[in-house]
Amino acid sequence: MSQGSVSFEATGEAALFGFDATSAAVRIQPRSSAWRLGGALATFVGVVAVASPLVVFPPHAVWLLGGLGTGAFLGHRRYIERFTLLAATGTCPKCGQTFALKKMRLRVPHPLPCDACHHESTLRLPEGLLEQHALD
Ligand SMILES: [Zn+2]
Repeated sequence: MSQGSVSFEATGEAALFGFDATSAAVRIQPRSSAWRLGGALATFVGVVAVASPLVVFPPHAVWLLGGLGTGAFLGHRRYIERFTLLAATGTCPKCGQTFALKKMRLRVPHPLPCDACHHESTLRLPEGLLEQHALD
């Protein structure tokens, strides 16, 4: 599977209604369609392979459908992962607590939960940033 491209860093904002936005540093990895499709297929096959031995036990159809459904669900999640958020660090706009997100699929808008005050701010990236780095 080709990685194709390197990750990039950007400065965005953590925005929460009613509070001044704070700056957030992010590192993002664009994903190619080959990476997403290959990963989706590998995920699907992997889940089905793990679930298939269960099919010999009752209730057979439930294991079969559950395995196929879980594989399709996880595979689809991988397929729509156009960008991976490798890391995000910043401070909560409400209480000033620092946060550091781990690697996960980048959502738009991406939620930034605060462990200290339990408010969830939103990651705001510069206009056109993702389009500029999109692989396909
Ligand atoms: Zn907070």
